[in-house]
Amino acid sequence: MFDKVLIANRGEIALRIHRACREMGISTVAVHSTADSEAMHVRLADETVCIGPPEASKSYLNIPAIISAAEVAGADAIHPGYGFLSENARFASIVEEHGITFIGPKSEHIRAMGDKVLAKTTMQKLGVPVVPGSDGTVDTVEDAHAVAMDTGFPVLIKASAGGGGRGMKAAETSADLDQAFRTARAEARAAFGDDSVYIEKFVAAPRHIEVQIMADSHGNVVHLGERDCSLQRRHQKILEESPSPRLPAEERDEIGRRVTSAMRTLGYRGAGTVEFLYSSGAFYFIEMNTRLQVEHPVTEMVTGIDIVEQQIRVAAGEALGYRQDDIRFAGHAIECRINAEDPRNFTPAPGTITDYHPPGGLGVRVDSGAYAGYCVPPYYDSLIAKLVVHGVTREECLMRLKRSLDEFVIGGIQTTIPLHQALANDDDFVTGDYNIHWLEEFMGR
Ligand code: ADP
Repeated sequence: MFDKVLIANRGEIALRIHRACREMGISTVAVHSTADSEAMHVRLADETVCIGPPEASKSYLNIPAIISAAEVAGADAIHPGYGFLSENARFASIVEEHGITFIGPKSEHIRAMGDKVLAKTTMQKLGVPVVPGSDGTVDTVEDAHAVAMDTGFPVLIKASAGGGGRGMKAAETSADLDQAFRTARAEARAAFGDDSVYIEKFVAAPRHIEVQIMADSHGNVVHLGERDCSLQRRHQKILEESPSPRLPAEERDEIGRRVTSAMRTLGYRGAGTVEFLYSSGAFYFIEMNTRLQVEHPVTEMVTGIDIVEQQIRVAAGEALGYRQDDIRFAGHAIECRINAEDPRNFTPAPGTITDYHPPGGLGVRVDSGAYAGYCVPPYYDSLIAKLVVHGVTREECLMRLKRSLDEFVIGGIQTTIPLHQALANDDDFVTGDYNIHWLEEFMGR
């Protein structure tokens, strides 16, 4: 096992990784920008190294600074968290070239899944259901028409290099196709310097359901069930739950089997999430994230498995200590992302937290680096806390969620707590009757 792990991230996830290391007897090295010198993970880490100014491009994305910090501190491994360098295949290779272990998948798998067209064709070959559409990229308007005729309208034109919903355009009918095709290409070129696009059938009113997997380097692969992340705004997840309120157990088993079999064939290692749109009982693969996800705690709450600890063990070469049959899904968990934002329009609201009182009690977990007197810097993601609650049933979980949100005090800045309170009291949410468009409609009411 490693003696010392460098955490190449910040905020709640850096603290989350620090906690796992501590419980495993591993010392931690926190790297931080000058804006984060008072951050909780920096205060708690065994060693700290300042790697640059506030701008992420000069600190948390600064590969030479992070590698030097690891060498100076003598770290055996680097955990990248999520965001920043976590899905950068080049970073993963550079880390390994320096004789340091990258706590994540092999760089070839990060690279393959980072290319959306390659990811889709790879998954399809491995027996994972994908959205019907073009076979690879589409280069001309004529080809676009031919594909759309096959799949039927409406269709989506998507950037191969895509991310964050950029370079994605819908065409309702063949009359819209020329314009949508040109706009998607132009947007893709501007955003990614690569104008290759592909076409998919537009799946109407789906849910977003993702499967968490864990694999070791000895050929063992398990899935840890699904998360329903349909509550999104502009493709940003706001609240996640496990299990999905609308997925029958047999369908979970079936998609879990397909995904684990695909990952076994691929020789994947580490934690990963395979994301699907789910509509009328069918799954359609959209992308795979080759890293830890923000919403991993809901899976931990229902399985009792510490995903970060497992990532570290697998990276150190250990075998998973359990098989699929050993995994038990118990109860229901919901995570609310609490952001330093105006809850009506999501405008960032950085500033100093004057009062801080997190909820507690049975089945309540708060992952956060916030404290009274902490100043939320304006330079990064506005996530400041994740409230995760567990209950024996979804009903119990919802009651616990409501009372926990009512207890949560974060003073001095605006947060999205009031939005979550409104959601927890909404009939459609309570019955589980929602899809990926529902939250934006709810906000517009
Ligand atoms: P990006 O990598 O740009 O975030 P994704 O492929 O993950 O793009 O898609 C982002 C979101 O766009 C999905 O969560 C879903 O809401 C919507 N979407 C993507 N593909 C389709 C599709 N074929 N039909 C309907 N909606 C889709």
